[in-house]
Amino acid sequence: MLDKVMTLLRQANVNIQSQGVEEVAIYCPFHRNTDTPSCYVNTKTGLWQCFNPSCNAKGNFRQLHRKLLNEDVVERETVNPDTLRYKLLKGLISEHEVFEISIDELKVDYETTDKLSTLTERGFEIDTLKYFEVCFSEKKNRVVIPVRDSNYKLVAMIGRAVLKDQEPRYLYSRGFKRAKVLFNLCNAKRYDSVVVTEGSLDAIKIHQAGFPNVVATLGSAVSDEQFRLLSRYFDEIIIFPDKDDAGEAMRCSIIDRCRGKKVRWARCPEGRGDPGDMTAAEISEAINDSKITLTLRR
Ligand SMILES: [Zn+2]
Repeated sequence: MLDKVMTLLRQANVNIQSQGVEEVAIYCPFHRNTDTPSCYVNTKTGLWQCFNPSCNAKGNFRQLHRKLLNEDVVERETVNPDTLRYKLLKGLISEHEVFEISIDELKVDYETTDKLSTLTERGFEIDTLKYFEVCFSEKKNRVVIPVRDSNYKLVAMIGRAVLKDQEPRYLYSRGFKRAKVLFNLCNAKRYDSVVVTEGSLDAIKIHQAGFPNVVATLGSAVSDEQFRLLSRYFDEIIIFPDKDDAGEAMRCSIIDRCRGKKVRWARCPEGRGDPGDMTAAEISEAINDSKITLTLRR
């Protein structure tokens, strides 16, 4: 506020008498104030007041600005030319290049970091996290999982909470349309069979268990576009949902919408809520034992 106050006073040619730590004493511009300065502007709050009883002008910084310059304070947005936002606004780089650059800034030293301990403690291996370029945002205190589209173009970042009470559990980059992509499709699309799971971490864990042909819907609701991608790239679909009502709904909707495909169902064993909680052996067993689903022809 100090800079703003001093700039305004100079701009308006106000006669400044002294500048203290918290206050600037000025000759009041709103009455004939010549002998001793009667007006004080607080440099922290911008509040000001003239102590001449016949004047008694006072107000906040905005009002001072208006009275002195006869115009309102304009809060111009200053965009630093070195920032990604500036380059994006100017069309110098595209949205996915912004993500590529931000990923570089969030990279961790995998050999020494403890930033990803919330994952390594759950059985995620460093090599797996490297493969998926999982990184960490100090600013948000979140593990960051990049999302690439079917052409390996970086389209979003998922920020996952690391603390127990940190809400929301998942943050997605602004404007990201989850319904438009299948997480890890860029890698899974080389196979004719696919494991479909809900969360990105579930998919990463399933990949680690030896199934690189895995995608995640990033939510239990499967969109039309996601169905289109599934039916375009794969002949066999192995559904591996969370063990809850939303997972069951996801399973039913895939069975219903993927008629004509070979559809199997892998289940979480007792005591496991989702594939992300499971060991490699449990995941292999669930997928290898997955049952072909039969539905009645309507
Ligand atoms: Zn005055």
